[in-house]
Amino acid sequence: MTNNYNRRELGLGLGATLAGTAGAGSFAIAQAAAKVVIIGGGPGGATVAHQLKRGEPKLDVTLIEVSRIYTTCFFSNLYLGGFRSYASLQHNYDGLRKLGVKVVHARATDVNTTARTVMAGGRSYGYDRLVVAPGIEIKYDSIEGYSEKVAQIMPHAYLPGAQTQLLKKQLEAMRNGGTVVMVAPNNPYRCPPGPYERAAMIGHYLKTRKPKSKLVILDPKRAFSKQPVFMEAYDKYYKGIIEMNLSNEIDDFAVTKIDAKTKTLTTKAGKTFKADVANVIPQQRAGAIAHKIGLSQGDWCPVNGENFTSTKVKGVYVLGDATIAAEMPKSAFSANSQAKVVANDILASLAGKQKFSPNFRNTCWSLLAPNDSVKIGAGYVPKGGKLDPVGPFVSKPGEGADLRKANYEESLDWYDGIVSDSFAKTMRKRT
Ligand SMILES: Cc1cc2nc3c(=O)[nH]c(=O)nc-3n(C[C@H](O)[C@H](O)[C@H](O)COP(=O)(O)OP(=O)(O)OC[C@H]3O[C@@H](n4cnc5c(N)ncnc54)[C@H](O)[C@@H]3O)c2cc1C
Repeated sequence: MTNNYNRRELGLGLGATLAGTAGAGSFAIAQAAAKVVIIGGGPGGATVAHQLKRGEPKLDVTLIEVSRIYTTCFFSNLYLGGFRSYASLQHNYDGLRKLGVKVVHARATDVNTTARTVMAGGRSYGYDRLVVAPGIEIKYDSIEGYSEKVAQIMPHAYLPGAQTQLLKKQLEAMRNGGTVVMVAPNNPYRCPPGPYERAAMIGHYLKTRKPKSKLVILDPKRAFSKQPVFMEAYDKYYKGIIEMNLSNEIDDFAVTKIDAKTKTLTTKAGKTFKADVANVIPQQRAGAIAHKIGLSQGDWCPVNGENFTSTKVKGVYVLGDATIAAEMPKSAFSANSQAKVVANDILASLAGKQKFSPNFRNTCWSLLAPNDSVKIGAGYVPKGGKLDPVGPFVSKPGEGADLRKANYEESLDWYDGIVSDSFAKTMRKRT
């Protein structure tokens, strides 16, 4: 991919080209710079906005995002473990504004793909290119007895912000000797190693602050991401604290019922578990706006792997956690990588330039204990409607302390990098 196109082709000149190709009167951009509207200001949508403005400052880019402050889910487990402050997870959109991105804090409620308009906060925003990156919503009804209201008692902490703070408060308020129960979700869900890193971070908190307590994990799956290194860490650091219950042929640990009053959780096999603190991570699906516009097929949005245009609604880009991008996992790293491809595809299409085959990347680090971090990752190339992994790698049990510490340092650099990539924010150099 390249940004080396003639900038004069955007703005007036480009408008004329587009008006010519888009069909008479379908949209009028002949006298103005092309308009891109992006719904969702996470690492997916915000990175698209940043890349577009860096690639072509004259583009008219509008980012529609509900929240004034974006709180990252990534590294929120480190906040639970006491390795990170809550403030360090929070980022505003000032950097993007400085670059000329029009940031609108409102909920996008509808899109008219014929008139090419987005409705948000009672206003209509016209576009030449639309990007939808709304992340996920929680399927509260995937477990009997769970609801948005019950999540105030038994937090999922899988959407950023208040939920993570609530879980932390509950852990802090729990007596030494209490039981934390974590309900893991079935595939596919946001951040495959997320629940298991969280278990390690809660394990660390309990070990250092409330050593008589334990964490029971109830998992509907038979296997999970980076399992060998997580299991090694649970045994090495958190023996007697973390109890892992993976489903198998005899026992199914999928939680099917919850009683919020008694904080009791019942599994498919009929076992009951009583919690002092319950972290219930239910099934998920693409953010509501994606379904409203018709981008989804079932829970997620199918895309063309070459450029993340929707296979359901012509001419709309959709990226990040909301998509089915198999084999690419739902991660901030993936969303950021997809965003760069989307931005380049938009810039190339607006300038009428040749497009190149994209390469996607992902790496997910997980902190197991102080200075002990593991990773998994791969490159991805579009093939047969899917994204094929290339050069996959994963940490192995028994690795040396130096390597694990280097992984941790790498993950800190990655966090700073993706935040500045997404929000055009200069991160302070770590000492
Ligand atoms: C505990 C945990 C740990 C994680 N750790 C990692 C990690 O270490 N590495 C990693 O790469 N990933 C990690 N992730 C995953 C990562 O957080 C997500 O993959 C990433 O946030 C997805 O980015 P996105 O832009 O697709 O969606 P989001 O980050 O969810 O952003 C979507 C945005 O769209 C906005 N929005 C939605 N609908 C509308 C609307 N209608 N109008 C306006 N705005 C709207 C939302 O407010 C939100 O800000 C973790 C996740 C969790 C839960």
